[in-house]
Amino acid sequence: MAQSLRGAPQARIMIDPPVQEPTDSGWYVTSGPDLPLVPHRGETRCECLVIGAGWMGLHAARRYAELSPDRSVVLVDAGRIGNNASGRCMGFAIDLAHNPRKHDFVEDIQGNRDELLANLDGNAYLRSAVEELGVDCDWDPQGKYHSAATDHGVVDLVSFSRALDVMGQKYRWVERDEMQAMTGSKHYIKALHHPGTILIQPAKYLKNLTRILPKNVTVHENTVISTASFGDREHVFETPSGVIRAKQVIICAAGYLTRFGFYGQTAIPVYTFASMTRPLTESELARAGSQAAYGLIPANSFGTTVRRTADNRLFLRNVYSYAPNFKTTRLDVERAREQQKIAFQRRWPELAPMGFEISWGGLLTLAQNGGMVFGELAANVYGAAFCNGTGVSRGTAFGKAVAELALGRSSPVIDILKRRTPPSRAYPEIITSTGVRLVTGWRFRRAGHEV
Ligand SMILES: Cc1cc2nc3c(=O)[nH]c(=O)nc-3n(C[C@H](O)[C@H](O)[C@H](O)COP(=O)(O)OP(=O)(O)OC[C@H]3O[C@@H](n4cnc5c(N)ncnc54)[C@H](O)[C@@H]3O)c2cc1C
Repeated sequence: MAQSLRGAPQARIMIDPPVQEPTDSGWYVTSGPDLPLVPHRGETRCECLVIGAGWMGLHAARRYAELSPDRSVVLVDAGRIGNNASGRCMGFAIDLAHNPRKHDFVEDIQGNRDELLANLDGNAYLRSAVEELGVDCDWDPQGKYHSAATDHGVVDLVSFSRALDVMGQKYRWVERDEMQAMTGSKHYIKALHHPGTILIQPAKYLKNLTRILPKNVTVHENTVISTASFGDREHVFETPSGVIRAKQVIICAAGYLTRFGFYGQTAIPVYTFASMTRPLTESELARAGSQAAYGLIPANSFGTTVRRTADNRLFLRNVYSYAPNFKTTRLDVERAREQQKIAFQRRWPELAPMGFEISWGGLLTLAQNGGMVFGELAANVYGAAFCNGTGVSRGTAFGKAVAELALGRSSPVIDILKRRTPPSRAYPEIITSTGVRLVTGWRFRRAGHEV
């Protein structure tokens, strides 16, 4: 199956550009000064072109450049770095996949160990950017709280704890009083604290890492790759104002990778949405609990994820919706915001009237079988893509490893990622879209007060 999906496209391929998001990410607008904007122009030759500057692409560019300082690397992105899906996320760099409802989560011991090893590699690479290169991103390695608001949520947490037991993982139960003191909310009845996750401000991280990439990396934002011709000796790419010729290319364009002629009809484009308050005042902060910052993962995966940020905002994420052609609208964002208002009211009724300062959505590229793209797709064409819901640690590990692979290196993480199942072909659009809408709607309703 993987072989027939891969096929090496020969002709000049026209590439549909990503659609511009209707609203900015709250992280992006609060992340400090813009990067100097230098869209691509003219004719450029390089050893390696990296397409897409999210977790995957940025780390592919960093790794490629630091391992071979004499080779030129060009990193392009269709939009602004930090305002893409990567800068729209909740900022949990998760060491261990956290879906306690996945039916084989407990049994899949080897799969969980592999996932953990790759994610730890991703987190170590993120940490090295912070500690060795000085990337400022509100780094906070406090772990995450899997939080239940209902009895069925507690049942989900117990099932998750069994998987952690099997893996020999440490965790701690947090009871109602402690949750209430920590968050100021009476909503939660129990939580499981797992220590390995790091909380970050994702847009700050992405922008600040871009500022200190090795000198052999040239970055072009607002530069869409509009055509691709893959050749034996070099690949040729057109941008709106020029041409880039590269000996190697690494495509880290999430679901848009399929538009480059690889893994066609595999990407299932799903959006999820978030809303952020303004910074809370001193008196409001007293109602948001005693802990200065925290990250709450819902016990039910269709529930509401919450962050209290380093700059004293509350930030809620929920709602999944199918996004035909990877496209979402302002109305979709507004509808999701209504759900986030309800979730805010449930958790902090005294604070909820303040509403939100900003709301946005972001793309999750899913595959029918949970598969991901990693490896050499054709001669000197490499790809890493499809986050399947979590992409910070994992995307960093994928990006780092795919650059190492392109440079002929080997590592235990490369071996793990090569063994991962690639994405399978999705059902026809009409079936997939109807199926996703029905399942997400049903599971959202079923999550009840976990939302
Ligand atoms: C609201 C929300 C919350 C989330 N929370 C978390 C979380 O807490 N933890 C976690 O691990 N994950 C989270 N995720 C998922 C995570 O954001 C994604 O998995 C991750 O960003 C994917 O990274 P990426 O590098 O693969 O893709 P992207 O960030 O989507 O980057 C791909 C880039 O490719 C560029 N591109 C595409 N086509 C072209 C082209 N033709 N030319 C030039 N550039 C192109 C795009 O502009 C884009 O910037 C969340 C997602 C959302 C939306």
